[in-house]
Amino acid sequence: MWWMGDAAVTDTTKRKRFTLAARPQGVPQQRDFALVEEALPVLQDGQFLIENRFASLDPAIRGWLDDAPSYMPPVPLGEAVRATTVGVVCDSRNPDFAVGQWVLGLNAIETHSLGVAGGFTGPIDLSLVPSPTHFLSVLGAVGMTAWFGLTEVGQPKAGETLLVSGAAGAVGSLVGQIGRSMGLKTIGIAGGPEKCRRLIERYRFDAAIDYRGKSVQQLEADIRAAAPGGVDVVFENVGGACLDAALMNLRHGSRVALCGLISEYNSVEKLGARNLWQLIVHSARIQGLLVRDYLPRFAEGAGEMAKLLSAGGLVFDEHVDVGIDNAFAAFMRLFEGSNDGKMILQL
Ligand code: NAP
Repeated sequence: MWWMGDAAVTDTTKRKRFTLAARPQGVPQQRDFALVEEALPVLQDGQFLIENRFASLDPAIRGWLDDAPSYMPPVPLGEAVRATTVGVVCDSRNPDFAVGQWVLGLNAIETHSLGVAGGFTGPIDLSLVPSPTHFLSVLGAVGMTAWFGLTEVGQPKAGETLLVSGAAGAVGSLVGQIGRSMGLKTIGIAGGPEKCRRLIERYRFDAAIDYRGKSVQQLEADIRAAAPGGVDVVFENVGGACLDAALMNLRHGSRVALCGLISEYNSVEKLGARNLWQLIVHSARIQGLLVRDYLPRFAEGAGEMAKLLSAGGLVFDEHVDVGIDNAFAAFMRLFEGSNDGKMILQL
């Protein structure tokens, strides 16, 4: 049992924070981070203190570590690394956040976060789920990325063929299953035979392709073998060779939902896509997807995921590592591919 129910941080006067010590150049190194212990903040009126129980480790965090233009400001040097957390209010000078209330918010990898009135933290109802971690996975941003990314950006129609890269991961495994529930033929790309086996046996993809050690041409041929008529929807999580190979297999009028480019997140030189001309050849569309654009519709998306769950048509996995001391190793799993499901750190 990885979730210890009421297991709480025992030191009530201090907090531990996983902070950014230096901006990573390429692949992040342990020395780019520091584990800092400091006194708990003193609350002002309107503020409250959250005892974080779980932090969501997302590939997007890598982008926030760079001093580069993005949809969010970079994490300042010396500050705790930004992450979504679920936790419990343990002290409060805000009438809307009583002690004991469970909350979800954009906070940081730290044992305690300062909540402020009008901030990005809101209450959650634990009676709805078997575990608070589900607010970081299937019912959280990951689930919403899969749902809105596929249905709104991918615009799939029953009978079409869907290609998903990063298919064994948190977002990708859900995308494949949502696609299947909509009557799509699903093809997943993942790293290694074990993950490919999971794609077929657990996430019920129709076909699985192992990308490891393959050239663009080999991947292109593998996709063609799985989808001889081409693909109608590409849900792209990886970029690089996966995207280039996918672009060579488009059908007329196909859609590419650009969700992530994880193969490039640690590259100093971005490779980019080389086969974009195929979009012209096939009158195809490529569109970036940013899940926070769908924030006002999260309740609707969560309702759709809940329907799939209760119909028994959806399995999801969470990979929970324990302890803030393990934050770096847990984060790096995302880039090594050693996470089996949504990567979460129990604090
Ligand atoms: P995840 O897929 O659970 O974990 C990351 C996986 O990426 C790894 O397990 C690994 O799987 C794969 N990977 C890592 N480095 C790779 C490389 N160089 N080449 C190919 N595959 C590599 O993570 P996630 O949270 O579901 O995120 C998946 C993607 O969605 C990311 O690109 C993320 O940025 C994106 N995303 C976007 C949004 C948005 O709003 N646009 C929201 C959430 C997530 P293998 O073992 O198969 O290599």
